[in-house]
Amino acid sequence: MLPSESGPWQEMLATFASTVGDAGYELIVTPTFEDVSVFTRIGESTDVVRKEMYDFVDKGGRHVALRPEVTASVARAFIQHRPVTPWKAWYAGSNFRFERPQAGRFREFHQVGIEAFGTADPDLDVEVVTLGWDFFARLGIDGVDLLVNSLGDATCRPAYRQKLLDYLLARRGDLCEEHRGRVEENPLRVLDCKREACRVQTAGAPLQVDNLCDECAAHFERVTAGLTALSVPYRVEAHLVRGLDYYTRTTFEYAGTTLEASQNALGGGGRYDGLVQAMGGPPTPAVGFAIGVERTLLAIGASGAAPRSRARLHAFVVDFAGGGAARDITRELRQAGFKVDRAFDGRSPRAQFKAADRSGARFALVVGPDEAEASQVAVKDLSGGGQRLVGRAELLETLRSMLDASPGASPPGYNRAP
Ligand code: AMP
Repeated sequence: MLPSESGPWQEMLATFASTVGDAGYELIVTPTFEDVSVFTRIGESTDVVRKEMYDFVDKGGRHVALRPEVTASVARAFIQHRPVTPWKAWYAGSNFRFERPQAGRFREFHQVGIEAFGTADPDLDVEVVTLGWDFFARLGIDGVDLLVNSLGDATCRPAYRQKLLDYLLARRGDLCEEHRGRVEENPLRVLDCKREACRVQTAGAPLQVDNLCDECAAHFERVTAGLTALSVPYRVEAHLVRGLDYYTRTTFEYAGTTLEASQNALGGGGRYDGLVQAMGGPPTPAVGFAIGVERTLLAIGASGAAPRSRARLHAFVVDFAGGGAARDITRELRQAGFKVDRAFDGRSPRAQFKAADRSGARFALVVGPDEAEASQVAVKDLSGGGQRLVGRAELLETLRSMLDASPGASPPGYNRAP
């Protein structure tokens, strides 16, 4: 991600931080690699752990893994530090999965996400799902489909799983090659298989939403009613199964309708009431989501939502009187909260003006020998306006009022000088 392309990336992270930060979620930073057991406990039967994890023995003989996702690390931190619940955290960072790289799929990729621990209240599911939805809306991405499903819990899933397995075993020979061999291991995954053979065979398969116990049914009912009450459009997708084993009850996905079908998941999440206990902690319900940064950037591009470009500079100092003015003025203005840059190496006025233009700054603050002599600065409007001489002592105040007086010219991302 080069500086010339990173504006939307920064914008997106800032939007995420404010969307979830304003809802009481606080940043957590977990290690990039941890003991491999942190991740193997999330589910040995998942592709992410079984086939895609980068794990290795370090120089001290420890078996460690680069994190393939963040939820397990957050759960590990929760167990280790026992914070007061409800505990709401957000994160942003890179993950590693040994996959076949293609558009929107990388071996190192980034996610932003939230996790909330300590309450089984379905209204928290609604909050979590809605925050992700609002995040995409704030970015101006249209064409996001919200799919929701319930995976049941330890009460109703085992019986359903058996029912589904019986159904699939009767059709085993007609499943895709991979699932023919692995159907017993995780029959639910077959529902989610994108291959034609499996899709045909699972079209009439029994569904978890039709086989929920009373508590799970009531929970799901409250979640969908909440989304309806908040006017968050969703579709129940009964074949939606998440890649990781630890999900219970609510599961959901944000699908980008402008992206290629195989790579269209912008993010997803769900409830994982069993994970903390499975990792050795106290029984603790939890819910969260992870959103792919690179995928979201693709969706921003595809939906034509114009993300803000890099923060525009207020001023660029052009000093051909020795450089002392550039040194002093940039510091003074930066300390006062202005966005300012300058040229170095005592370059010619022509070269410095060119750099000022390229920087996108609103004004050039010009100090040549005459201005230096008179303790003045020439403030030149770089968008074609004129130029005026300002006393060095009045520069800060004058620049502030000149910026205030040109609201029409305020580029996106422009912050009023303080
Ligand atoms: P997961 O952790 O598998 O539920 O993935 C959550 C989100 O992360 C997905 O919806 C994608 O947006 C993103 N993601 C997952 N794997 C990759 C990858 N290999 N490259 C890029 N983005 C990914």
